[in-house]
Amino acid sequence: MTLENKIGLIVDDDFALKHKPPYPHPIFFSYETPLRIQSIIAYLEIKKVFEDKRVDIMSPKSIDESVIQLAHSKYYIDSIKYLSSLESALLNEEVFLTKYSFDLAKKAIGGSIRAIEGVINNKVNQSFALIRPPGHHALRESGSGLCIFNNIATSILYLRERLKYNKKIAIIDIDNHFGDGLAQYFYGDPSVLYFSIHEYDFIEGDIGFIHELGEGEGVGKNINFPIPMNSVDDDFLEFIEIIEPILKEFNPNIIIIAAGFDMYYTDPIGNCLLTSISYYKFTEKILKIAEEICEGKLSFILEGGYSLLGLPVCVYSVIQALFKEKYERPLFEYLDFSQNSKKNEIKKISSTLKNLLANYWSSID
Ligand SMILES: [Zn+2]
Repeated sequence: MTLENKIGLIVDDDFALKHKPPYPHPIFFSYETPLRIQSIIAYLEIKKVFEDKRVDIMSPKSIDESVIQLAHSKYYIDSIKYLSSLESALLNEEVFLTKYSFDLAKKAIGGSIRAIEGVINNKVNQSFALIRPPGHHALRESGSGLCIFNNIATSILYLRERLKYNKKIAIIDIDNHFGDGLAQYFYGDPSVLYFSIHEYDFIEGDIGFIHELGEGEGVGKNINFPIPMNSVDDDFLEFIEIIEPILKEFNPNIIIIAAGFDMYYTDPIGNCLLTSISYYKFTEKILKIAEEICEGKLSFILEGGYSLLGLPVCVYSVIQALFKEKYERPLFEYLDFSQNSKKNEIKKISSTLKNLLANYWSSID
């Protein structure tokens, strides 16, 4: 077996058992549940993924609180710890806390660090951290959108501070929602490229516009690609045309995927109409780019994805693409959403964004 085929999967029973929402359906945060990981593990077991010799099962790295402090204030960390001790609490209207939440959120950071470190140290070629709670909305002093600590941001700051890893890093965020936390951590950092494709929220008028391009030395390295609600499979990969030349020009040493699957058509929180084929094709393309520029160094960190039907299938489709195996969609995805295509709107967004980016990237014209 050559190293070319090694994929690290970061798993831990606690993600499938703890930090259980204290409220029943249909409250928004009741969807961020241990069932998400249970459904993924069960599906990967059926597909015999864990028995595959190309898979390395890895545990989250055990970290102490000083690691969380690289990305979050002591006051915020202490607040989470205190509210967790109450057994059931609300940090705000978007984050619930239980007795195990602090420990599990800390373990999620350890899972993300293990996944990224494993790839950087050549222990595995690619990795996928099957962790929760998600992290991409979390900020230094606050959690939101079901996120407590920012798993990816903390991991990158850990690489920088503790491992003295100063190479360039690209983050591609494919979660249905704009990763406002990740964007803010690295908005002025020229060594981290952040790209986010997300459903634009016309109702709440969220941030994540195309003209938010970064600041100071980081300008041009924050790239937002908002798409309309109800976008379909055919629409999704339009962004590759922009990100492919930019990734090649930026030339990172690793690509981290903020892997949210809530654009799936049955997702109860996202409003898009994707099937797993989009995630399979995306992984195929990004793997090919990674092989060209950074020896295939790719690490997927689970973010959102709340459909218990779709989430396991999407995770499996990513793994199949990393294995370079053929992928057959399950029968329940044989639906035709093509009449919903938003191609014209997306092409307009793409060309406006390209005009803005041409000022910072010579590969874009
Ligand atoms: Zn999301």
